[in-house]
Amino acid sequence: MAPPASARPASPTPSASGAPEDSGRTGLDAASVRRGFFEHVRYSRGKNPETATPHDRFMALSLAVRDRLTDRWVKTARTYYEQDVKRAYYLSAEYLLGRALGNNLLNLNMYEAAAAAMQEVGVDLSQLLEMEPDAGLGNGGLGRLAACFLDSLATLGYPGMGYGIRYEFGIFSQDLVEGHQVERADEWLKFGNPWEIVRPEKAVPVRFFGRVEHHQGPDGRPVARWVGGKTVIGVPYDTPIAGYGNNTVNTLRLWQARASAEFDLLLFNAGDYERSVVEKNDSEVISKVLYPNDAFQAGKELRLKQQYFFVACSIADIVRRYLKNHNDFRDFSRKVAIQLNDTHPAIGVAELMRVLVDERRLLWDEAWSITQETFGYTNHTLLAEAMERWPVSLFERLLPRHLEIIFEINQRFMRQVQIRYPFDVEKQQRMSLVEEGSEKKIRMAHLAVVGSHSINGVAALHTDLLRRDVLPDFAQMYPERFNNKTNGVTPRRWLAWCNPRLSKLITSRIGEGWATDLDQLLKLEAHAEDPEFRKAFREVKRANKDELAQHVRDLRWVQLNPDAIFDVQIKRLHEYKRQLLDAVHIVALWMKARRDPSSVIAPRAFLFGAKAAPGYHLAKLTIRLINGIAEVVNSDAGATGLQVVFLPNYRVSLAERIIPAADVSEQISTAGWEASGTGNMKLMLNGALTLGTLDGANVEIRDAVGDENFFLFGLTADEVIARKKAGYKPREVYESNTELREALDLIRSGFFSPEDRNLFQPLVDSLLNEDRYLVLADFAAYAAKQEDVARAYKDTESWTKKCIINVARAGIFSSDRTIKQYAEEIWRVQQTKVE
Ligand SMILES: *Cc1c(COP(=O)(O)O)cnc(C)c1O
Repeated sequence: MAPPASARPASPTPSASGAPEDSGRTGLDAASVRRGFFEHVRYSRGKNPETATPHDRFMALSLAVRDRLTDRWVKTARTYYEQDVKRAYYLSAEYLLGRALGNNLLNLNMYEAAAAAMQEVGVDLSQLLEMEPDAGLGNGGLGRLAACFLDSLATLGYPGMGYGIRYEFGIFSQDLVEGHQVERADEWLKFGNPWEIVRPEKAVPVRFFGRVEHHQGPDGRPVARWVGGKTVIGVPYDTPIAGYGNNTVNTLRLWQARASAEFDLLLFNAGDYERSVVEKNDSEVISKVLYPNDAFQAGKELRLKQQYFFVACSIADIVRRYLKNHNDFRDFSRKVAIQLNDTHPAIGVAELMRVLVDERRLLWDEAWSITQETFGYTNHTLLAEAMERWPVSLFERLLPRHLEIIFEINQRFMRQVQIRYPFDVEKQQRMSLVEEGSEKKIRMAHLAVVGSHSINGVAALHTDLLRRDVLPDFAQMYPERFNNKTNGVTPRRWLAWCNPRLSKLITSRIGEGWATDLDQLLKLEAHAEDPEFRKAFREVKRANKDELAQHVRDLRWVQLNPDAIFDVQIKRLHEYKRQLLDAVHIVALWMKARRDPSSVIAPRAFLFGAKAAPGYHLAKLTIRLINGIAEVVNSDAGATGLQVVFLPNYRVSLAERIIPAADVSEQISTAGWEASGTGNMKLMLNGALTLGTLDGANVEIRDAVGDENFFLFGLTADEVIARKKAGYKPREVYESNTELREALDLIRSGFFSPEDRNLFQPLVDSLLNEDRYLVLADFAAYAAKQEDVARAYKDTESWTKKCIINVARAGIFSSDRTIKQYAEEIWRVQQTKVE
């Protein structure tokens, strides 16, 4: 039954109940939702209720929910326009949104009403929610951060907008076949997307290739004209982003590539029908598929096309919107802030210069200060292989005018460097936007740095290392531009939505304000002393573990022991994240348990979720190894108390199931490699204890909870550097540690790959010969700390206290905190109430 409308907090909707226009479109009560649902079954799906499929019902309910966003969406846009507010534009090649229906029901405070409406018509809402495919337009942390930021911008009432690419295929879907990862295309749009609205009237033409003509303008100044080449059309698709508990609905605008003419009439008339259709395909392939590499630059021409495509569309759109209220560009940076999510959109610096200088005829210096005042750049990685550098020859062909502009920026910048540091030729070479060598390349990070007034890292340690090791020359020259913005996660999706049991328990003790003011969780600390609360907290975790166990049984035919420690490592598969350390340790633990069952301190279920980039051989082999270990370990779980499960197709909706059930959060990257991590924050917020290195935001998590509530191990970032400098020899570690040696020998012997005994040799060889990420160097410390974890878990009351303190101190890891810092310190945008 629906709770009476009066039992829910006063709704901020503009609709007065009974007003004729709210009959089926705006009312948030169960009866109105039911009317809206039936209207959409009939008029949007063209079905009778009796013939509607489950998918029709999912679409009908989603459309009914979208209706309820629409008034606020329109009103939000009008408010921003009328008040001519400064806007923050987030440019990101990735948005890892996950599902929208549940999140929108939550943010509109209409979940109960929708559940009641569905129950009345005999539909199970939770089954409808499962029908929605994840919007997986991102690889991992960077894309999910963008999604959390959109939620926080709307919830805090900031005039913010996201721009990106409407990939027809998002991150691949992962199957396991005989323990190997097999990729399938992610056909997330196959059955239609109820959330988006296409706006063909706002399409933007984008040029590629061609040549530059230089003339004398009528005013005597030189003019550059980029002509010829090919034009592709960017068509915007808008998705509403609802704030929680307010009337703000912001926009995520994603661009799809369309051919500029259905086919080239000239070619067609000349009888070359085939070529005319090929050209159409060439254009539309631009928004076809997300590149599935996390923190790795593949260097493909199509990827640079994607980047320029969405950046050019977005900047044209931003300039068009600005000029609705302005006649010149003097106020541009007072009305527009653009944030670059990594270097993927860094070409925007050259594109805004091109628009201002070539198209709008501003003087270079004026355009340059506008550009610098407008852009901010967020760095996301210290990995050398992720640093984007594009061959000058590719630029020259694809974006000839941008290459000229980049050379001009560089010439002027190099002059500044010369004046600041005369005679230091090496410094000039290090700082140049152009990398010399057998193949000249443009360094996109340097372009982003010189074109921005703000450069930020994403955790305190990461920002320190950015200043010290990655961009030291720039940090010395422009110290005031560098700042830190530690990442965060939205507490709406990552607690209120994914963990209703814990949410309810928290609200019963401290009220509901925490969802928009996460520091209020601090009030839980007092309750950590209350045995009743601790018992209730444990019951929540146990129920969540039972629920996950049920799901794992359905999915993988393994019955997890809910009394076991649920030890989870969920994140992209990467050597630096060290899933191998986890795996090798499990082998060592299992060998010990087989020899001496009394050595097992506490039963443990190791859960993994991870996608490997399709071309990343060692990463895919690691997945196969974990599955090989799982097969062996699970076959005699009764004797050892150990279980291992690799859950396929890790994605946002799977994270929402695993995280509430986790006891231990594995955050074991080699110190200095993980920029921040956000999975660590989600798990902390849901009461898992971190087993981690001093890397990324782990450092700040430990500072927040105290050493006694965190399991720390491993070399520090400085020790990692020193160890390598001293000539690290992994084989010496192997020789000197019996447990480690026996585990590696067993893996190498083919024990976990009976069908191909040599399968894992490359993995073991990479550890013994180089071990770039110091798996062996940290093994002993990791194994020892895992014993501490097991012992600590057996002291139930003390363990529960630690968990509660972790939840209580997670407030600083809300993306609301992060977004306030961006808004106040970088963008200078104001919260704007939508009535
Ligand atoms: C949060 C999240 C990530 C990032 O996890 P890290 O542990 O920070 O690397 C990746 N993928 C998904 C689906 C997530 O929800």
